[in-house]
Amino acid sequence: MYQGSCLCGEIRYEISGEIKAIVCCHCSECRKAQGSAFATNGVVAENDFKLLSGEHLLSRYEPSRGYAKFFCSRCGSPIISKSEQKPGVVRVRIGTIESVITERPMAHIFVGSKANWEEISDSLPQFENFPP
Ligand SMILES: [Zn+2]
Ligand SMILES: [Zn+2]
Repeated sequence: MYQGSCLCGEIRYEISGEIKAIVCCHCSECRKAQGSAFATNGVVAENDFKLLSGEHLLSRYEPSRGYAKFFCSRCGSPIISKSEQKPGVVRVRIGTIESVITERPMAHIFVGSKANWEEISDSLPQFENFPP
């Protein structure tokens, strides 16, 4: 069981299952959305993700058709994304989780579009875009 929240604390959520396939995504969309070198996202079954509070503040932005990012409209924290192409799961921005996370990132993805000032200094596998 994991608990997380946005920066202002209005949105709170709980994850009851495991967090799978944690990746650091360096694509330009994730960089813009986080204001950072990359986003660290994990896959969680939609049924395992439960909003505890702040649902009215959860705003939706669709950078492309069938793909939506959800964030706190008060403080701007990115929380999850959903894709119509991957039904049944949400991708959680795991930096918003407060609990101790036992799973670990498994790869860097979209390294082909990483920021030119960023140097990846760990030994995780790197992929130009999606992992094969
Ligand atoms: Zn907030
Ligand atoms: Zn990305």
